[in-house]
Amino acid sequence: MSSAPIYLDYAATTPVDPRVAQAMARHLGLDGTFANPASRSHMLGWLAEQAVEGARRQVADLLNADPREIVWTSGATEADNLALIGYMRANRARGRHLVTSTIEHKAVIDTAHALENEGFEVSWLKPAADGRICPEALEAAMRPDTILVSLMAVNNELGTVNDLEALGNIAHRHGAVFHVDAAQAAGKLALDLERLPIDLLSLSAHKIYGPKGIGALYVRRDTRIEALIHGGGHERGMRSGTLATHQIVGMGEAFALAELEREDDMQRIAELRTRLLEGLGELEGARLSVAEGHGMANILSIGFDGVDGQALVMALRRLALSTGSACNSASVAPSYVLTELGVPTARALATLRISLGRFSTATEIDTAIADIREALDKLRKGSRVQSA
Ligand SMILES: *Cc1c(COP(=O)(O)O)cnc(C)c1O
Repeated sequence: MSSAPIYLDYAATTPVDPRVAQAMARHLGLDGTFANPASRSHMLGWLAEQAVEGARRQVADLLNADPREIVWTSGATEADNLALIGYMRANRARGRHLVTSTIEHKAVIDTAHALENEGFEVSWLKPAADGRICPEALEAAMRPDTILVSLMAVNNELGTVNDLEALGNIAHRHGAVFHVDAAQAAGKLALDLERLPIDLLSLSAHKIYGPKGIGALYVRRDTRIEALIHGGGHERGMRSGTLATHQIVGMGEAFALAELEREDDMQRIAELRTRLLEGLGELEGARLSVAEGHGMANILSIGFDGVDGQALVMALRRLALSTGSACNSASVAPSYVLTELGVPTARALATLRISLGRFSTATEIDTAIADIREALDKLRKGSRVQSA
């Protein structure tokens, strides 16, 4: 049997689509569009600016937004920082309270903690058992001085999808602005910002077959944010720094492809997920982290009772997937998302996050099922011998 690695970690990052890589390559060398897009004094600068603005329109089109509402950043982490810190600082005169949840990505959680250290107040919503944030919980947390609500579209560990319309409407009814981390949603879920009550939205290219190191923050007209990075006043003063033409063109191409191929991709991935779930669901001790029904097809979080998590992960060496644990230097801790959901520690450590993508195949799924089945059998037999 081949021991070539099988990539099942598309929610961590995706490979760059070859069509994206080609577009990027045309914006690097002397024979390409390499000039500084801010160079107004020559033709080469104009061409680079044109490339950047074309990509800005491609990203805006995926969201049904205006290109002037797209601010380039280095990724979703920076977009989350800019949204939270930039909005809270710029609007502190109206209130100091922010509402978010305990299962956000660390880019939001750590930023909210930094704001607490600056004197802002944060309310932390807990997820319901289905992994989603209840609109009722948000309603109860809103205060007269709440100026920002930040909740993710799709959870990166669970694949669960929040009801953005209901949550955003509550934020707006209380006079707060709604920020959404859409790093896992863009290009996979339809996001129509003309219709959805969202004011700030974070995007990343590398979760959707674009390059790492580029992202964007959607900033709805008239939403005031303060810059975090100063120097030159690029991006209408919201984010300075020479624009990375090749990265930006790659993100634009990736988003345009996603728009074209989203439905086909997601349908194929849904079929692969069914195959995976049928294969894994019947294994002894298998437990889904959240019930089926409110999730994206590309992410499956499944835990196994009665096996040691670390031994399981070691036994699955050729499967590139994520686990329900976070390694610190000294110890292995269960993922905070699973802990918040009430998953017992032992099962959290024996939880696999399998995420599928554009290049996943049925053969890969079958191999993964066989590997996991074999590993579980071996580990359980071993532990039965030991305890006998
Ligand atoms: C990957 C991810 C991020 C971070 O994005 P980068 O572009 O890598 O900075 C933020 N939020 C979520 C939900 C993610 O999945």
